[in-house]
Amino acid sequence: MLKIFLLNLYSVSRKLKLPVQPALFIVAALLVSLCHAKNFNGPNGTVRLESRIFGKTEFVPLLDLADSLDLSARWFYEPAKIELRNNKISVDVMVGSKLVLINKSDIRKMNSSIVFIKGEPYVAATLLTSTLKPYFKKTSSGKKSFSRSKGIIVIDPGHGGHDTGAIGYRGIVEKDLVLDIARRVRTILVRKGYKVRMTRDSDRFIDLIPRADIANSIGALILVSIHGNAASKNKRSITGSETYYLSKAQSASSKRTEKIENLGIKKKISSRWGTLKYKVKLWLLGRHFKKNREKSKKLAELVQRRLAKITIGKNRGIKTANFSVLRNSYCPSCLIEVGFLTHPTDATYLKRSSYKQKIAGAVAQGVIDYINIK
Ligand SMILES: [Zn+2]
Repeated sequence: MLKIFLLNLYSVSRKLKLPVQPALFIVAALLVSLCHAKNFNGPNGTVRLESRIFGKTEFVPLLDLADSLDLSARWFYEPAKIELRNNKISVDVMVGSKLVLINKSDIRKMNSSIVFIKGEPYVAATLLTSTLKPYFKKTSSGKKSFSRSKGIIVIDPGHGGHDTGAIGYRGIVEKDLVLDIARRVRTILVRKGYKVRMTRDSDRFIDLIPRADIANSIGALILVSIHGNAASKNKRSITGSETYYLSKAQSASSKRTEKIENLGIKKKISSRWGTLKYKVKLWLLGRHFKKNREKSKKLAELVQRRLAKITIGKNRGIKTANFSVLRNSYCPSCLIEVGFLTHPTDATYLKRSSYKQKIAGAVAQGVIDYINIK
């Protein structure tokens, strides 16, 4: 990319009869000042972030800062703020103000309010290097306590109520099977000290978007949806488990737009924020979802790796899809198909308690593998 740019520059400067070398020097200087990365001493140790200086203040990208502290970021309109949080701390960075609200009670002042560069929010680096430090020390005895292991894991048993899901071999019903497995996953994770929330813990119907909203509203660490597969009549020999993560099938911009429409906030944005702010929001979401997709892929890989070791059928690997529950969640997410209910062997095993326990153990371990990557 840079090479092409420099070649273009070379031809342009030739046309304009400019000396090439000074032009190259100017570009190089610009690139250095735009993309200067350096180490910052944050509450959890040293982190490398992009740095930009305006006036006397040094700024860093807010979303990268959040990532370095394992905080998830959400955008709010009234009041306009970006909230960074995990289950230990919340940091409300107000837009257009130097004030930061920590844990909804302490007000701290930064040396500058948020600035937007190409739609991306930057904050004063001192938020990382000084303002937040006491809060992390006060509540943590070591780095580990701020790791992802302390977030909430959302387990989503598919279907429920009038939506039975697949009905397979000898009447095995997907909605009951996945609730059973999900409860087992919860028990294992809770015993190991993780916080778990289920989207449903009974035979009731929940629409797809509200499932993602449950995860979004509590700032969940990850969302794991559990399903059982079914094949059409002429493909009844298909067996095995597979795990999905969100595809980028749609173009990035239409996906973002759709997401905003799904969340029912488009109207609010256009009426309160005008075109520019709408674009800011698109930018924020786009960047966030790109990162999420990479994390979701990793989560899917690790869960499927564990499942492959114990599932009776074929290891069908990880796949991409555009499932609504994945598309609408702010946190990394995956959707597991534990086996084919239409296959006699898969279904027979999936009726057994011991096998369901094995599946649950594999899913829980895959989740733990993901949490422990860091
Ligand atoms: Zn299903």
